[in-house]
Amino acid sequence: MPRALPHDLSPGRFDAALRSFEGVVGKPWVLSGEEDLVPYADAYGLASPGDHAPSAVVAPASAEEVQAIMRLANQHRTPLWPISRGKNYGYGGAAPRMAGTVILDLGRMRRILEVDVARGYCLLEPGVSFYDLYDHLIANRIPLWASTPGNALGSVVGNALEHGLGYTTTGDRAANVCGLEVVLPTGELVRTGMGAMTGNPCWNLYKYSYGASFDQMFMQSGLGVVTKMGCWLMPEPDAALELKMEVPNEEDIGWVIEALAPLRMSGVVQSPINIGNFMRVIMASSQRDQWHRGQGAIPDAMFPEIMKKYGLGWWGVGLMLYGDPDVVRAQAAQVKRAFAQHTPQPFQETWWRRGEPRPPGPTHGVPISFPLRIANWAGPNGGHLGFSPILPPERGVILEQLKRARALFRDFGFDFYGGFTLGERHVNQVNMLAYAKDDPDMVRRARGLFEALMRDAKGRNFGEYRSHLSYMDAVAETYDFNGHALQRLNETVKDALDPNGVLAPGKQGVWPKRYRGKRT
Ligand code: ADP
Repeated sequence: MPRALPHDLSPGRFDAALRSFEGVVGKPWVLSGEEDLVPYADAYGLASPGDHAPSAVVAPASAEEVQAIMRLANQHRTPLWPISRGKNYGYGGAAPRMAGTVILDLGRMRRILEVDVARGYCLLEPGVSFYDLYDHLIANRIPLWASTPGNALGSVVGNALEHGLGYTTTGDRAANVCGLEVVLPTGELVRTGMGAMTGNPCWNLYKYSYGASFDQMFMQSGLGVVTKMGCWLMPEPDAALELKMEVPNEEDIGWVIEALAPLRMSGVVQSPINIGNFMRVIMASSQRDQWHRGQGAIPDAMFPEIMKKYGLGWWGVGLMLYGDPDVVRAQAAQVKRAFAQHTPQPFQETWWRRGEPRPPGPTHGVPISFPLRIANWAGPNGGHLGFSPILPPERGVILEQLKRARALFRDFGFDFYGGFTLGERHVNQVNMLAYAKDDPDMVRRARGLFEALMRDAKGRNFGEYRSHLSYMDAVAETYDFNGHALQRLNETVKDALDPNGVLAPGKQGVWPKRYRGKRT
């Protein structure tokens, strides 16, 4: 495939930019060969390969090198797309929004700069993966747990910046970021919060600043390259209790969410609660043609047989309680009382106590990646895409959303993988579309389904919390209060901080002046 360049960049200028980058990072760390770029393509998305194809990669080893590259990018008007580990699967992986953008791969910046055991935080460079952090904590016998996601191949920094959600009491990762070091699009280096004062020891302890606070501004935005991030970790608890229940019926999800919402809000349950339908298990552990070879979604009539075979209900509810065993017992009693009003079924209880081996999985802060296997569900060369609106935790809303999403999945011939993650005051509804990329009809239907889900949610005034590159413009468009005032604010800030439009053009639907015509 011929290399795509941004429309306003001549090959000569582009090559001059790459040569200048080599002067900063050394020749081996600037890549532009066809094969070099393969790992930076989006392996799972629905777009044509050219739509998000990068033109080259530059991999700096320090914040100073990031600054130098950023300044050169301004000189040569070369757009850059920062990635930490590039494993943002389901949302675009390592690929940039705009074809021809140069990947700024921060994977070499992989130092764990500090872990403060007494204060429960770490300070990380962007290339640190969840596995790196876990290995470091274990190897040094540090009694802190990191919140790891279902697929932990990515970086702690990249995931938090994208509002990644997960497990343990720090599972709302963006909320547990405390203090950033950022290279601005002009190349200037800033530290947010208390880090703005040289030598202040509270940088990673106190989230705000004197005056405006900017940590959140650098999340899901193309306004800076994060080169260090403070991240709070959960102190290793004395005990952890997992309460699990397989709930039999589809519509049970209404009372389940309503029973749990007050417990999340009051802090009885302090970590996000993950509820998934049986297909979440089936799709990660088998392939579609083992169950059904016909056209369309697996028929509902087959569900009882599938659930029985795996010992699953329609929904698997899993919640974790961490802390002193007496406190955990009291919290568990409250959860049980709330459920007893709706079902005589008991929870399956699994205790872990400090000193015992930790069960592998994110509930105990142990990284895993096997759930990525859902990409194989529909056939070889599979892909997946998430559609995840934010909802209030109300029975009526939840049941209506479920009914509508289920119907759309059925209409477009897809198996319904659905989950709900319960936050303190909201629900994140996760719909996962899994498809075979070699099947053009399935790809066409998957696009149709995603767009229908988005339109339908918008029709009920609900929006997504994160989206794939290909849908960033469309999702941004749904945030329309006062004639898209937020979009205008985003563009004003973007143009002020990035006047030459060199950082992450199109990220989250925000285009710098220079590329504004590219919005789709
Ligand atoms: P991970 O591998 O950790 O899952 P990625 O490296 O794929 O995450 O990053 C996901 C997205 O987050 C990127 O596409 C980019 O938009 C943004 N991002 C990642 N790292 C940084 C960073 N250090 N600074 C600014 N934005 C970043």
